[in-house]
Amino acid sequence: MKPTELIWFNGEFVKWEDATVHVLTHGLHYGTGVFEGVRCYETEIGPAIFRHDDHIARLEKSAELYYMPIPYSHEEIRTATKELIARNGLRSCYIRPLVFRGYGTMGLFPLEAPVDVCIAVWEWGAYLGDEGKQAGIRAKVSSWRRISGDSLIPHAKASGQYLNSILAKIESHKSGYEEAILLDDHGHVCEGSGENIFVVRDGVIYTPAHSGGILDGINRKSVMQIARDLGFTVEERAIARAELYLADEVFLTGTAAELVPVREIDDHRVGDGRPGDITCAVQKLFDDALFGRAEQYREWLDPVEIP
Ligand code: PMP
Repeated sequence: MKPTELIWFNGEFVKWEDATVHVLTHGLHYGTGVFEGVRCYETEIGPAIFRHDDHIARLEKSAELYYMPIPYSHEEIRTATKELIARNGLRSCYIRPLVFRGYGTMGLFPLEAPVDVCIAVWEWGAYLGDEGKQAGIRAKVSSWRRISGDSLIPHAKASGQYLNSILAKIESHKSGYEEAILLDDHGHVCEGSGENIFVVRDGVIYTPAHSGGILDGINRKSVMQIARDLGFTVEERAIARAELYLADEVFLTGTAAELVPVREIDDHRVGDGRPGDITCAVQKLFDDALFGRAEQYREWLDPVEIP
């Protein structure tokens, strides 16, 4: 990660190296934080943030679910983010807003600890590699199950919950795969460690229902709309593990990863081992949407004014 000049921290623009916290910060001990992953692209209409309002809205929802009142409005966070990008002289970047319980009280009752907010931006290439985006990646079904709604809140993007993804990610990495696919408590396919999943069989695109234990991905929503606009049928339903091996095509979506084809799962080749036609068609229009080349999706872009 290449440092930028400034980070927005509790309402102020501070130097990257000065954006620090006390070691007794509540969130550091108990994972009491919520965050977002957002991207700004150099688009046809200049630098623009993809589905910015949706990301801030999800941040607010995640915070609310963990009883964390954000001391800044939606509009303040939106404006701060855009100013931060401009002041750092970036034209495309990854954006990480984080809301967390700060320094002041310890113990498991957090409601008296302050709520701190920071936003960092930095240049970040394709999370699963450019090669992965082009040729597809190899994935492994994790031995770890995705956190269940009985114990945590899969719909929230909360810091502590990511220990689940991290265990799966380390396991897949140590076994020589690029990504993990997690099943839910019932053995149904859930999602990647940081991506939603789509399975194509006989020309139909399937994805686990958002009422299941998945994060309701913003790119998932976008890709479903794009695929339908292209005339494909997209169905939300439970997906059995074996369907991953029987699929014609599989792909993942997420802000960091964007749209990544999966070419192999548990050493079974997916389709003919190359990104399939439907994946490629959706990926192309999705990329056009991200980069402002598709007029019909321009409303998804929040332009950043560069002085
Ligand atoms: N699932 C998980 C567990 C994630 O961390 C992410 C990344 N935020 C996603 C799905 C994809 O969500 P989005 O498309 O909103 O980035």
